Amino acid sequence: MSDRDGLIWYDGKMVDWRDATTHVLTHTLHYGMGVFEGVRAYKTDKGTAIFRLKEHTDRLFASAHIFCMKMPFDKATLMQAQLDVVRGNKLESGYIRPIVFYGSEAMGIAATTLSTHIAVAAWSWGTYLGAEALEKGIRVKTSSFTRHHVNVNMCRAKSVSTYTNSILAHQEAAQDGYDEALLLDVDGYVAEGAGENLFIVKNGKLFTPDLTSCLEGITRASIIELAGELNIPVIEKRITRDEVYCADEAFFTGTAAEVTPIRELDNRTIGEGKRGPITTQLQTMFFDCVTGKATHHQDWLTLV
Ligand code: PMP
Repeated sequence: MSDRDGLIWYDGKMVDWRDATTHVLTHTLHYGMGVFEGVRAYKTDKGTAIFRLKEHTDRLFASAHIFCMKMPFDKATLMQAQLDVVRGNKLESGYIRPIVFYGSEAMGIAATTLSTHIAVAAWSWGTYLGAEALEKGIRVKTSSFTRHHVNVNMCRAKSVSTYTNSILAHQEAAQDGYDEALLLDVDGYVAEGAGENLFIVKNGKLFTPDLTSCLEGITRASIIELAGELNIPVIEKRITRDEVYCADEAFFTGTAAEVTPIRELDNRTIGEGKRGPITTQLQTMFFDCVTGKATHHQDWLTLV
């Protein structure tokens, strides 16, 4: 990733991709306190547009607030930076990664005197779980790793440190031949995927875990809104893994994963074992919105 042409926005300046480096004593590298975002830009008829730029930027600032990291730039500057990296790298579509991290002034866990730095990179990134996944669905395994307790890590923040847990879970599932992991919360209820929120469909209704121990996904919020427009009831509640086994349909949502059907959990076929009708409907609506084909929700798009 580090050795390629392109530009990265780094602390207010556009720098060459290969020059966007940090010192090995950077605090975040040692202790893991940092926050970031994952954002996508899509090709639309009117040009390239970033999906829900404001919401992602708001969440980045909320994550920093939770960790008491002082932001050296305001939201407008960060929104402009994301637009500039997409344009600067001549991307028609792609993934944008803003990251906020501490500097290298000191070691030790006292972080209050450290400087905060921000970088924004963007690159071309296709389907996260494979091209077939969006159509055929994926095989998922319940993880032996538990999702963070609300007082162990801050679940409302998209933080660097959360992802050790995600990597452990995904690694275990992948080593066992599955596409993705499903993590349970400390009480054994379904929380979320390693990098996605979960939805299930039962008797025409949509269910998703409440936000206690999962990330407040922006794709999740978009799907809830789209389901409302289709008059599909959405219920946020505690969900058990056997409710997922017996669901008619299930799918993951996320910026990277978009809307990915789940065809199997722990070797139990879900519904017909393929992308179900409600998943298909919501997935189509979602892609119509992100690519600007839908006339409504144009406000979710910011043209580059
Ligand atoms: N949960 C986790 C753990 C994630 O990493 C992500 C991806 N950011 C999501 C849920 C989905 O969030 P969003 O739809 O905002 O990308």
